[in-house]
Amino acid sequence: MDAATTDNGQTLYIDRTDGKKGSKAPFYVVYAGEEAENRWGYYCGHCETFDTAMDSMGRVQCNRCANITKADEWDAAHE
Ligand SMILES: [Zn+2]
Repeated sequence: MDAATTDNGQTLYIDRTDGKKGSKAPFYVVYAGEEAENRWGYYCGHCETFDTAMDSMGRVQCNRCANITKADEWDAAHE
């Protein structure tokens, strides 16, 4: 995993082999520790920021470049 430091000085670990597909680039899974036990959130692969948020539907959105995970199959099935 790649170690990276946030604006707050916290070290986080990016797993580039796991994540979600986004509209602009993938979101990668981020862990708070090297052991991959503490899931921290997601990292935007488009503008390379940790500034992302997940809504109650489980969609991930980047707060900087508006990259967002694509609608899942649930939406298509209930059209
Ligand atoms: Zn972004």
